[in-house]
Amino acid sequence: MKITSNKERSFTLSTASQIPTSIQNPENDLRDRLCTPLSSPSFDYPASVDPGSSSTSTSSTSSILSNAQETTRTSNSSALIVQRPKFKEDLNWCDSAEMVKNLALFDEDQQSLIRSITIKHQDFPDDFNKGNYFESIYPIIASGFLSAEKIVYCGAQFSSGKRPCRLWHLCSRCAYYRGMSSTLRYGPAFNKADFSHLTCSFDGGLPLDSTNSADLRNYWLANASAVRWAFNEGLIEGAYIVHELAILRFLPLRVLPHSHILVSGDALTVDRLNTISTYIAETEGVDLVPSLHNRALHTRTDLEHVIKYQTKAIKLQEPYTSALIQCGRHRLRELNLEMREFLDSYSAAVGQFQKIVRIGNLKPQCQRQYIGSKVSNAANKTVREMRTRASRGNRV
Ligand SMILES: [Zn+2]
Repeated sequence: MKITSNKERSFTLSTASQIPTSIQNPENDLRDRLCTPLSSPSFDYPASVDPGSSSTSTSSTSSILSNAQETTRTSNSSALIVQRPKFKEDLNWCDSAEMVKNLALFDEDQQSLIRSITIKHQDFPDDFNKGNYFESIYPIIASGFLSAEKIVYCGAQFSSGKRPCRLWHLCSRCAYYRGMSSTLRYGPAFNKADFSHLTCSFDGGLPLDSTNSADLRNYWLANASAVRWAFNEGLIEGAYIVHELAILRFLPLRVLPHSHILVSGDALTVDRLNTISTYIAETEGVDLVPSLHNRALHTRTDLEHVIKYQTKAIKLQEPYTSALIQCGRHRLRELNLEMREFLDSYSAAVGQFQKIVRIGNLKPQCQRQYIGSKVSNAANKTVREMRTRASRGNRV
């Protein structure tokens, strides 16, 4: 069946008889539909190596927020004044129910996207429940982010077939499949070399806005240059580098560029790590102090976990909700402005930038040395089969 919107888009995951009535009258039951808790990431990632990880959980923050709102209402109960939001900037952009309840505050295109994503969440989750897709998509829509439509309709049926958005740094579905694809490429190489997971990060964080987004590239380029230098010096045999950005906090916005690197070759000694760290610190444009962490990967399972972990979508909801709890709703407009600023600046920083770099025996173009599997139709077929199996699994 096709669910068409004003821009002729469709999901083809059901039959015509299953079209939710909410399309014709979206405000009737969407509110109830969104009362279900948002999904939590299904990956079992090693949290200790994520510089942007936070201990705040969705469920706990929701209840804290509810309590905070309740307290506010109680303290103002004598006046019996409940102020309704007047602008979309007054809303909690990570609360889907609140956005649906105040749908009229959004422009027409955004309303259409919110309705579509609500239907997708409820009726066609398929493999979108892997990761934080449904947590991130609401602030992405509310902020007016240019690629919001592309992400909302990731995996939808177009005349040319189903189309992924490929924005894996913001779409956990695309991140998941990119990780699976890399697992097929490097997993079989486990017995051909020693592997370790090198994290090249930094102490502290950076402010981010439209004027300094290009500065982030200095840090990623410094990490890649240092690893390439280590390869040229014979310290390592190969590397699969993925550049990433973590949001440390909002209000004020602070971010941390870093790189996750799968390294092949002998274990990196403390001396070698220090040498790489010094190289990064001395690179022009790097003002933060490097912080390197290296862990040997002793099993194929470890190796594959790290490969999947390397390509993951950024967390938007956790730092947003933490800031809201800490600073209160009266700062929502600032918070939402920062979310918008972050998405625009981050996109400017990674647009046309090579986020993935392969070196030495992990680079397919190095014919003789390359130890991974070739990217072939067979591999792509395997990925397609894994997708099909995942979809079937979710429907059961
Ligand atoms: Zn996608």
